[in-house]
Amino acid sequence: MARMEERNTANSGGTCIVCSQQKDLGIRIFQSFLCTECEREIVQTDVLDEKYPYYIDRMKQIWMSAIS
Ligand SMILES: [Zn+2]
Repeated sequence: MARMEERNTANSGGTCIVCSQQKDLGIRIFQSFLCTECEREIVQTDVLDEKYPYYIDRMKQIWMSAIS
């Protein structure tokens, strides 16, 4: 998966859209928050990994909320 080059470091943290946990460190993508651990997971996840479709689905929701 392509790395997200254009990103802003969130200062206040938030609820991660992937793991649904409150985290202090992460990035904000449009209206959604993605914690550092999940971002790292997604970047490292192989396309053939069984978790990959799940991450794609979560990311899709971020894009959907961004364009709605
Ligand atoms: Zn997370």
